[in-house]
Amino acid sequence: MLTKEMYQRYSRQLLVEQFDETAQQRLHNASVLIIGAGGLGCAAAQYLAGSGVGHLLIMDHDNVDLSNLQRQPLYREADVGKNKAESAARQLLTLNSEIRISPLVYQATPALLEALMPVVDIILDCTDNLPTRLMINEAAYYFDKPLFIGAASGNLAQFIALSPRQRHGCYACLYSPDQHTGNNCLTQGILGPVVAIAGNYQALAALYYLSNINTPEWGQLHVFDGMKMQWSQYAIPKRANCSICGDR
Ligand SMILES: [Zn+2]
Repeated sequence: MLTKEMYQRYSRQLLVEQFDETAQQRLHNASVLIIGAGGLGCAAAQYLAGSGVGHLLIMDHDNVDLSNLQRQPLYREADVGKNKAESAARQLLTLNSEIRISPLVYQATPALLEALMPVVDIILDCTDNLPTRLMINEAAYYFDKPLFIGAASGNLAQFIALSPRQRHGCYACLYSPDQHTGNNCLTQGILGPVVAIAGNYQALAALYYLSNINTPEWGQLHVFDGMKMQWSQYAIPKRANCSICGDR
């Protein structure tokens, strides 16, 4: 049952086709783990908070750097030097004080992910390095949690939605641990709107999924080329003998 204030706050999304009171209530009951509060996490978290997702757990051990402000709009100049998860939580609560936000000032570890998985409905991978992404992929598969992955560098953005229950390949099928892409913000640079596009895809897919009004096309690699303003889409096939998603 939505309160009068909730009806007013969420009135515009409640007008969207299929997005009814039940959908809003489902969002209110949902918990989302956002790992990484950089460009991807900032973009995704602000829309999930605004939309009324009941509990956001935001994990980042890093501090805000002056060079982050160009593409991480949850932070202000006064946040430079402060922890990202805590700064993001403060800012998000000024946007929506009706939801719960748990800042987690930690670096992701298998033990930490193991502890968090049972209390969240989905995971948003908003990190920026392959070892952490593979660790998150493994935890999501082990605990059977849908995983929404964003990535961006240079003029390119990526989005992937994985469901351990579906028969597509996983992140470890796409990238093996010995693969060194070398693509990150430090080497390739990044434009703010490009990384926000990937984060917004994560938020949109999460909203549809959590409200149960649509499911994303699982197991597809979506690649956005900012220079061409175009998306391309590729299926992620299961790799033979994948230790994460094979023979489930
Ligand atoms: Zn796999």
